[in-house]
Amino acid sequence: MGEFDLIKRYFSRKSLQNEVILSVGDDCAITSISAGYQLAITTDTLVEGTHFLPSISPAALAYKSVAVNLSDLAAMGATPTWVSLALTLPEIKEAWLAEFSQSLFAILDRYSMSLIGGDTTKGPLSITLTAQGFLPENQGLFRHQAKVGDWIFVSGFLGDSAAGLDLLLQNRKIENESDRYFIQRHLHPTPRVELGLALRAFSCCALDISDGLLADLGHILERSQVGAEIYLENLPLSHHLCTQYEQTQAEKFALTGGEDYELCFTVSEEKREEMEQVLRSQGIKVTCIGQILPATSGLNLLKNGKKMALPTHIGFDHFS
Ligand code: ADP
Ligand code: MG
Repeated sequence: MGEFDLIKRYFSRKSLQNEVILSVGDDCAITSISAGYQLAITTDTLVEGTHFLPSISPAALAYKSVAVNLSDLAAMGATPTWVSLALTLPEIKEAWLAEFSQSLFAILDRYSMSLIGGDTTKGPLSITLTAQGFLPENQGLFRHQAKVGDWIFVSGFLGDSAAGLDLLLQNRKIENESDRYFIQRHLHPTPRVELGLALRAFSCCALDISDGLLADLGHILERSQVGAEIYLENLPLSHHLCTQYEQTQAEKFALTGGEDYELCFTVSEEKREEMEQVLRSQGIKVTCIGQILPATSGLNLLKNGKKMALPTHIGFDHFS
């Protein structure tokens, strides 16, 4: 099977949106965009050995490569629309491609997204996805818009993905329901798309937690020129994390572990109650974990009102 048969067989499907004028098959894809909207654009690469272990299944890999890009769109409050896929493969294995493609279209369908183009090359396994989404003008959730006094929230639970990676790296036998849960959270993170859309009306500042809460919150503080305090006792920890790990290790995973793909966002005191009501009615779990302070305060960790030391390594950085 050659490159072009492969593309036709595994990556050509009718696009879902009227805005897609030309999809897979020509030199470029062509799309239009409705008046009053802007395009949010994001790219993420997954490289074997850096972002996933060689043992990952093609289905999990396809899911995660879409999910991490969706998470960025969610963090901007964008409505996901389409993706393009640059796939580098060491060899053509039809069973692998079939499973990868099926899983890819399953998550694209779940979010009504189309695959509109890409590139297929030979080399060490790596996947680069570019995702785009619609954003009504002046409604994005930007890192630079946190204000002193805003409350800091996070979605879901923190630290479970780091626990899952820990298990995979130790190559430990999966023993119980908690182990399966951690690995599922690591391989199958939930992009918080619905939350991002709901936040457009309330929050003006959000990001997704890919490198660890403290490291990512640091980006908000820097861009917004503010400080913050975090209440350790409020961190949302799953009962699996609390029962399988010592408290300090569970907190460390939650504060510094990467790849939870939850959203961290801020909301003013004025809009807080209404926001919480709307999210509750949609069944979206969020937790208030702190407050934005003036820049001179820096980043502070409090446990029941008592100041705690910041961990020495606060997040993932490819080059340090
Ligand atoms: P070009 O040589 O002009 O870059 P290619 O030969 O690489 O074009 O690709 C042919 C068509 O197939 C293009 O429309 C491209 O977007 C699409 N394509 C290539 N690889 C993929 C892929 N993995 N997934 C989806 N579309 C792809
Ligand atoms: Mg090409």
